[in-house]
Amino acid sequence: MTKFSGSKGIAALTRTFRAPSSEAAIRAACARLLRQCGIERPPISLKKVLSHLGTATEITDDPLNSDAVLHAERGQFTIRIGRRALTRNWQRARFTIAHECGHILLYHHLKNTELISSLDSTAEAHAELERLCDIAASELLMPHGMLRAAVQNHGITPNGLHALREIFAVSRKALIQGVARALPGTDFFIWRLHARTAFEESTFRVVRAPRYHPSGARPWLPAGSTARHVSPRIIEEAVRDQKYILEDNLEIALNRRRWHGRGFVTFFPKVSRDYQYELGSFEESVRDIDSIYLFVGARNVTSARQFIGIAHGG
Ligand SMILES: [Zn+2]
Repeated sequence: MTKFSGSKGIAALTRTFRAPSSEAAIRAACARLLRQCGIERPPISLKKVLSHLGTATEITDDPLNSDAVLHAERGQFTIRIGRRALTRNWQRARFTIAHECGHILLYHHLKNTELISSLDSTAEAHAELERLCDIAASELLMPHGMLRAAVQNHGITPNGLHALREIFAVSRKALIQGVARALPGTDFFIWRLHARTAFEESTFRVVRAPRYHPSGARPWLPAGSTARHVSPRIIEEAVRDQKYILEDNLEIALNRRRWHGRGFVTFFPKVSRDYQYELGSFEESVRDIDSIYLFVGARNVTSARQFIGIAHGG
């Protein structure tokens, strides 16, 4: 089996931007779009982006197959968003709309029908297209330079994460993924309070880990692992005392595999507030802490300051 090397359309986009990769190309396309819209600070106004792309939005009560659907009719794009998806998690709806903007951006750049249809001519091409549109959504809502500066300033303590969500108006999930990119040399685990079967104890278990690397250079745990693989026991401690913890001598152990480095445990604080935003007004209610994030990195490439932030005197 040969490795999938990308569709003709994505290759054309990468050439247009003289980018080293398709990812870099889509990021460059997003940066250019935001410049053209005159957007210089967060939260990114999707209204401005949509109007620049000549795209209408329509909030519908009709059942949709996904949170949003993109329609094209005689060159006119419309994004239909489900009302339920919007009111349930409006920041996630912003990501969904920004993802559709990624699709439209590609159409605008490629123009040519053959290139456009190559984008999802095979299952692999389609998967790559969706991945790139997620990258576009992340880059549109959290432009790299703006996110980098905000993370440096606020850090990723619970208060920092709360501040970052206010600044960028994104979902928890989108923010954590963005933050990991903005913190060089780091990767992260997500631990969620759950039981996998009715017979299992409900406790914090890994739902997301850094990608497995056979050399053991990166820490890794399989999904479902409990917090006892981490020592000192900072996951339990952070949950119990509801505080962030920085640990310079962290060990993550699985059988004979051991990783040592720096770790930072954090979470989103419990908040309840009302939001007014261009898509409407929304409320977010208090939620118990059900997800814990463990950021990890080698000691020589990470620092306390990068996690705690300048504004908090780290
Ligand atoms: Zn898509």
